[in-house]
Amino acid sequence: MLLTKKLIEIRNVLNSIDHNDTLKLPSIVVIGSQSSGKSSVLEAIVGHEFLPKGSNMVTRRPIELTLIHTPHSKEEYGEFPTLGLGKVHDFKRIQQTLKDLNMAVPESECVSSKPIELRIYSPNIPDLTLIDLPGYIQITSKNQPLTLKEKISELCDKYIQEPNIILAVCAADVDLANSEALRSSRKVDPLGLRTIGVITKMDLVEPERGVAILRNQDYPLHLGYIGVVCKAPSGASKDNITQVVIKSEDAFFRSSYQYSQRGIAVGTATLRRKLMDVLEENMGSNLGSIIKAVQRELDETRYQFKVEYNDQKMSAESYVAESVDKLKHRFKDFTKAFGKPQVRLEIRHMLEQRMLDICAQRYWTDPKINELSKLDSAADEDRLYWDLKLELASSALTKSGVGRQTTQRVVDILTRTMEQLAEAEPFNHHPKAAERIKSMTHEILSSRSQATADQVENTIKPFKYEVECTDGEWVEGTKRAIVLLQKELEMCEEVLAKIKTTVGTKKLRKAINYVIEYDREEAKRAERREAVLKLRESNPRRHLEEHFNLKENGHQRSESSEEPHSEHDNEHERDHEHVSEEERSAEDEDELEAAMRPHYNPKLLNKAREALSLRERALILKYRLSALKSKTCKNSKNKTQCPEAFLAVVSEKLAYTSVMFIQVELLNEFVFQLPRMIDSRLGVKTGQEAMEIFARENPSVGRHLQLMDRRMKLEEVWEKLNYLVRRQEEAKARKW
Ligand code: GDP
Repeated sequence: MLLTKKLIEIRNVLNSIDHNDTLKLPSIVVIGSQSSGKSSVLEAIVGHEFLPKGSNMVTRRPIELTLIHTPHSKEEYGEFPTLGLGKVHDFKRIQQTLKDLNMAVPESECVSSKPIELRIYSPNIPDLTLIDLPGYIQITSKNQPLTLKEKISELCDKYIQEPNIILAVCAADVDLANSEALRSSRKVDPLGLRTIGVITKMDLVEPERGVAILRNQDYPLHLGYIGVVCKAPSGASKDNITQVVIKSEDAFFRSSYQYSQRGIAVGTATLRRKLMDVLEENMGSNLGSIIKAVQRELDETRYQFKVEYNDQKMSAESYVAESVDKLKHRFKDFTKAFGKPQVRLEIRHMLEQRMLDICAQRYWTDPKINELSKLDSAADEDRLYWDLKLELASSALTKSGVGRQTTQRVVDILTRTMEQLAEAEPFNHHPKAAERIKSMTHEILSSRSQATADQVENTIKPFKYEVECTDGEWVEGTKRAIVLLQKELEMCEEVLAKIKTTVGTKKLRKAINYVIEYDREEAKRAERREAVLKLRESNPRRHLEEHFNLKENGHQRSESSEEPHSEHDNEHERDHEHVSEEERSAEDEDELEAAMRPHYNPKLLNKAREALSLRERALILKYRLSALKSKTCKNSKNKTQCPEAFLAVVSEKLAYTSVMFIQVELLNEFVFQLPRMIDSRLGVKTGQEAMEIFARENPSVGRHLQLMDRRMKLEEVWEKLNYLVRRQEEAKARKW
């Protein structure tokens, strides 16, 4: 029986090859009508109750059952290779699992051709491969589809093809003429060269009839019929059904002399023996064709491997290691390119932008900005104004949350870089791993950023009170301020030029003139309105009266009043009339102006306004640039007159100090921790299974691995088969 055992091992290897439909070793296929006793026969062979029971079509998928004889172990267990449940020692659990897997096929489909793989290991079973199929049905019940009968037949037809052996199960108490199993098997194996007839329920017929069935003349099978009684007596132990069944069967068949006649085969033990012999023989006679088929597949696979992958070896482990190395190298390249000087540049740039904002807000929009260059001759009061302004501007820079902002800037750069690395080849094929890279980055950075921000904030604290600078620092600061303002000016002029080209110089000039004129008029009107308001404020009562429209009532009141009009009242009235006239004329003018206003496109007016403010900004920048280049700004004592230079010095000091701590607290830690985390969470330490899953996520790697795996397995099978052939030839030679 060595051949069967070895071929079962080979079969398992072949089954584990992806997309393997051509290489099939013979199995015993069990077919029969529902309730013919199929399950009882299989359980009697295995020795345990493990098949799902019930009237509601409990076998909906083929069960590929591999029995593995383990003579040196007492352990009995089952394994579902594709489910990864490990060894299942409890046969009730195997039964439940099979039931669940079968019932998962929806009622509407009723049967599925997707097989369930089950291996059983025991010292009490022979080496066999059996396939249990859904039982043939006569009539479909109400909630079963009409095509179910055909579906079951088709499924059985697929399995009873060569080289499989057919176990046609028929109940003794049902006329064999009605046996669906025999009918189907005859279609593919008319002589019964690979069909064994199993007649169950022999206890339900008289021995004479029983013997007649087994001698079957009407439907002769080359491999013959075997009669069994697979019903264990009620109350018998369920632990080793085989022995119980065999014992009671023995007693039954012994009790009738007819069953001891020559040529009559009865009993489960006989059936087991027969199955083993037939399978062994069948496997032996198929060996040649199997080897040929394996050879063909192997040649094809080797050829593909050479053409597609140039025979280059690959494993999940090597792919994982390579991917992780790539990531770490790229990270290293990045850290080399993003050292202290680059961080300083980034932070300085950020602070200088802030500094420019502060200058724009506090200086360049100050209407008195022109006074700044004449400060030497200015009154003390004016000087104080500008001194204070510089102090406030410097504070605005030092107290703008430098710690948090500079740290965040570096955190953002690191996060963005890692995101880019995670989305690049090869991690673009591995979305989960890419997410892990991002979350590792986040984990390290968020654990360090608060402390870093606090440290930076602490170290720049002195600058919040005083910033001293050397002459050298001043010179540098002035230079940088000039460069910054120059750039700002260029930007201004660039945008202005763009507006000019899009709008057209003439059109823009007209619109600008209109805006200037309009603003001038608007200013005048505002002045007038203000004057009116002032008058109202100085005479509130009259305003109220007017508001409540009491003018006429006032006349009435004066008529009915006994008191004569006072001089004072008259005066007020005159005043009032005067104000109303002024107001009216202001309102009229507004309306007139609105009616006369040329209808410019609001978008164009906006552009004109933008151009106007850019022109003004450019003028101020030019003025400031000349100030910064002047003699005054060469001297660090004149910082009040040269705020841009002074703020540039402050920015540089803040950047220099911040970077020192960001480097130590954040960047160094990140550079140290991340590669270690990558190794432990993405690398080969994650285990074989995780590596296989990872590698196969990449389609080209998956295919490469699949082809390698196929080649390796086919080579293994090829070796084993050749060994078996050699053994067979040696055995033959010995016989001779
Ligand atoms: P399946 O539907 O073909 O798998 O049939 P089962 O093995 O479930 O058997 C159907 C019924 O027949 C069950 O009630 C069994 O107990 C009963 N049965 C099976 N074998 C025998 C037998 O040899 N003799 C008797 N009397 N009943 C049997």
